[in-house]
Amino acid sequence: MSEGASIAERLSSVRAEIERAARAAGRDPASVTLLAVSKLQPLSLVAAARAAGQRDFGENYAQELRDKARALRSLDEQAAGGPTRWHFIGPLQRNKVKYVVGVAGLIHSVDGLSLLDEIARRADAAGLVQPCLIEVNLGEEPQKGGCAPEELPALVDAFLARPSVRLDGLMCIPPPPPDGSPEAVRPFFRRLAELRRKESERSGLALPELSMGMSADFPVAIAEGATLVRVGTAIFGARPTRA
Ligand SMILES: *Cc1c(COP(=O)(O)O)cnc(C)c1O
Repeated sequence: MSEGASIAERLSSVRAEIERAARAAGRDPASVTLLAVSKLQPLSLVAAARAAGQRDFGENYAQELRDKARALRSLDEQAAGGPTRWHFIGPLQRNKVKYVVGVAGLIHSVDGLSLLDEIARRADAAGLVQPCLIEVNLGEEPQKGGCAPEELPALVDAFLARPSVRLDGLMCIPPPPPDGSPEAVRPFFRRLAELRRKESERSGLALPELSMGMSADFPVAIAEGATLVRVGTAIFGARPTRA
């Protein structure tokens, strides 16, 4: 079996599982967007997924995103269904913002004021409005990105004062459960949905997006309201290690 065929098959089984999870939760399957997380995977696999109809891709490293987006642009011109939509989902340093603004249709990992300021400054200079999500560190794990839940209201309000950025919702990466059970992460997904509801009410912003759920737990995330699920391994197989 060719690489492309196996990716097409894995994609269709992930899509079927998304549809099942959405229906079981009484949700419209079209309300959940599948993001294929292609970090560290070669362009050939991204192109195979594109050929299988996948449009949304998530990348973690700023230069890798820039390079892949550039390389796929020519392919995009012939592709059916419109251009690739890139999502930046990894930790973002201020000095790498320039590679991401205007390339990623959505930055999922805004977690502080100085990062937000740099995104806003670059977007303003490019004459565009950059859609973003705030990443919340729900497990309060010091080694991970994301703002603390108590910092969230101030960061949401900071968006209101910066016209070149737009806040679309929240993202989280829960701590890996000790027993590997997807049920163990359900309380984190529920908490993020609750924070979104509260912040939307408080700020008056719609905040339509909830980015949560990965290969191991996306059906649980969908049951708790995910609108963007970030799935890597279940589509592309194991990732090469970072050089
Ligand atoms: C790598 C990564 C994923 C995908 O993880 P899989 O377990 O391979 O599905 C999702 N979200 C983020 C933020 C990631 O870094």
